[in-house]
Amino acid sequence: MSVPSRIDMTASCACGSVELAAIGAPIVSSVCYCRDCRQGSRQIEALPSAGPVRDPDGGTAYILYRRDRIECSKGASLLKSYKIRESSVTNRVVATCCNSAMFMNFDKGPHWVSAYRARFQGDLPPLQMRICTKYKAPDVVLSDDVPSYPGYPLRLLAKLLASGVAMLLRR
Ligand SMILES: [Zn+2]
Ligand SMILES: [Zn+2]
Repeated sequence: MSVPSRIDMTASCACGSVELAAIGAPIVSSVCYCRDCRQGSRQIEALPSAGPVRDPDGGTAYILYRRDRIECSKGASLLKSYKIRESSVTNRVVATCCNSAMFMNFDKGPHWVSAYRARFQGDLPPLQMRICTKYKAPDVVLSDDVPSYPGYPLRLLAKLLASGVAMLLRR
């Protein structure tokens, strides 16, 4: 059986006006419970007719891609960035047609884009880890299907570092 060398994925807003195209394997597929992600997701959920951004347990699920491997393939003019604080370097980018959370990126620095997992269709890459779980609500019991980490685990940092090096080497 041959394993495809590229996995191409498409993410779409709820109404279909905005699409993201991702090429190749993602860096990681994770759920984050940190305060910023919860606040950012809540902020988007409060927009008119927005759907849920957080999972029922309060986590926000992302698929992380190198920023050279994901792009807005349709409806880019409909995207709008939100910040949780004026000084924040992260942007949570929303499709304004239907207020769907599409992805999170940085003003500068890190080389990856965190796309909201809920927006992808097809065979999603399996979830690999839950991170920053020390910030989850106390009454939430996490499933043990994948490892949970209280903060940012070395395993995640290693994946991010390796993908950054690969990008610099143009692999
Ligand atoms: Zn839309
Ligand atoms: Zn987070």
